[in-house]
Amino acid sequence: MTYFDIDPYSILGLKKDADLEQVKSAYRRLVRIWHPDVCGKSMENIKRFLAIKDAYVLLKKRLTVKTPGNQPVKSVVQTDYSCGENLSAEGTFLFIQIGLKEALYGSSVDIEIANGQEFCSRCNGLGKIAQADLPPCPSCHGKGYKTLNWGEKDLKIICSHCSGRGRDRLPTCPDCSGRGLVTRKKKIEVKIPKGTRNGTILQINQSIGSDNQTSGEGCFLEIEVHMPKGWIIHGKDIISTVDVDCWTKLGGGYIEVETIDGLEKIFLNPGLGSDRFIRIKNKGWIDRNGQRGDHLVRLNVLSPKGPCPKEALELILKLKTLWPCDSHISKALPHSVSNLS
Ligand SMILES: [Zn+2]
Ligand SMILES: [Zn+2]
Repeated sequence: MTYFDIDPYSILGLKKDADLEQVKSAYRRLVRIWHPDVCGKSMENIKRFLAIKDAYVLLKKRLTVKTPGNQPVKSVVQTDYSCGENLSAEGTFLFIQIGLKEALYGSSVDIEIANGQEFCSRCNGLGKIAQADLPPCPSCHGKGYKTLNWGEKDLKIICSHCSGRGRDRLPTCPDCSGRGLVTRKKKIEVKIPKGTRNGTILQINQSIGSDNQTSGEGCFLEIEVHMPKGWIIHGKDIISTVDVDCWTKLGGGYIEVETIDGLEKIFLNPGLGSDRFIRIKNKGWIDRNGQRGDHLVRLNVLSPKGPCPKEALELILKLKTLWPCDSHISKALPHSVSNLS
């Protein structure tokens, strides 16, 4: 058997998932024991030392290879500044979603920002959870060392998993992921101005840092206004669409329209007319001067489903004689109706 048949990790007494630091420290430890200057310059000792060195060089090369896409990513959220007021792009970006009323009438919201770091209270900054009774090390079964068959000799190598203690490692603290530090959170109140629009970016006068020194960069809060489906803010007006059945449009009647201040009952005058919009005064958005706009409702007139029954056609023809159209509109009646007359 040659040393090259042995896996480089086991030469260094390491597990397969050992990182570069563990490889380096195992190498340093083994060199102190197995360097020919220390243990004698026999051929066996020189071969063993060279195997340790080769294993180290190989693993070091393997573990320092950088994979593409390993670059650190700067945590800046890309946002659309079209609604902002010439804000510079440098800083911390936060994001919040608010309701339509909060945006229209203004409100204040509490947001949490990072404010330095503090020791993790769960593990008292250790990064590990202390336990009185740890199970035996799974790697060495509690012995604290591993035996490696090395030529004619058996080598005892300190177990790297437990550093020779024979007990399993302390579990990593889940709160701080073993760092011992957690980001301190600070609650701040942000005033949402009246008439805030979707995509508005507010600058917050707070210094934010994930470490103890403040970054000096600004902090921005992007606001998304949660709009009901199909609503558009145009200038200071709100535009929405409401479905109306053709009989209500024709014969008149009440329809219910959702506005920012609740449901409104609106009476539609009888007649098809050309009114495709109704205007509800002072139920719109507000402009810079605090002037309230209107709510414009687009009427989406629904036609009856399926083919027209014969009786209905007869009534329509009767209606046609009672209520004649402008000359050019009669052409719009279905061909079958004209044939029956
Ligand atoms: Zn912790
Ligand atoms: Zn062990």
